[in-house]
Amino acid sequence: MENVVEMSWRELNYIFIFIKYQKAGCKIWSYLRKYPISRNDINALKREGWRFSIEDISDYGLINEKQRQILLRRGLSGYQRDVTVFHEFSHIFYDYIAGSAFNKSEKEIIAEWTARRTRRNHKLLRHAIRSFGLEPSIYDASSYKAFSRNSFADLEYKFKVNMMGNMS
Ligand SMILES: [Zn+2]
Repeated sequence: MENVVEMSWRELNYIFIFIKYQKAGCKIWSYLRKYPISRNDINALKREGWRFSIEDISDYGLINEKQRQILLRRGLSGYQRDVTVFHEFSHIFYDYIAGSAFNKSEKEIIAEWTARRTRRNHKLLRHAIRSFGLEPSIYDASSYKAFSRNSFADLEYKFKVNMMGNMS
């Protein structure tokens, strides 16, 4: 199967719906609806000691369950970095619910589909990025809503520092 990260939303959603139809009886679907990734879930990960680590890996993201580490590929930025953050969260929260009824490719589709939907929530995006001390990035409407005020304050701060630097 083509790498899920390269799929358009249309393709991804089509395959997601197909899997859902094929495995309609599985509990994962109602679970995804009832328990979307929340602030509390993100806080729980922090509490449990999960952290991110930037590494030279070929995958966009990987989970090291034992070390409670989420590995992100070095150089990943903007939209792709943020989707990867939520993609790995999805694996942590939902793979065990999906269980053995789903193969690896199907779990990838579920994780990517969930990640792209969840990332659009700007409050959750902000909470995730800030909680784990990741660099905020603005590249679309959701990320703008999440970080514009923040980055404006940064700009203002840098401007003031420059001005004062010039005056002295
Ligand atoms: Zn994955």
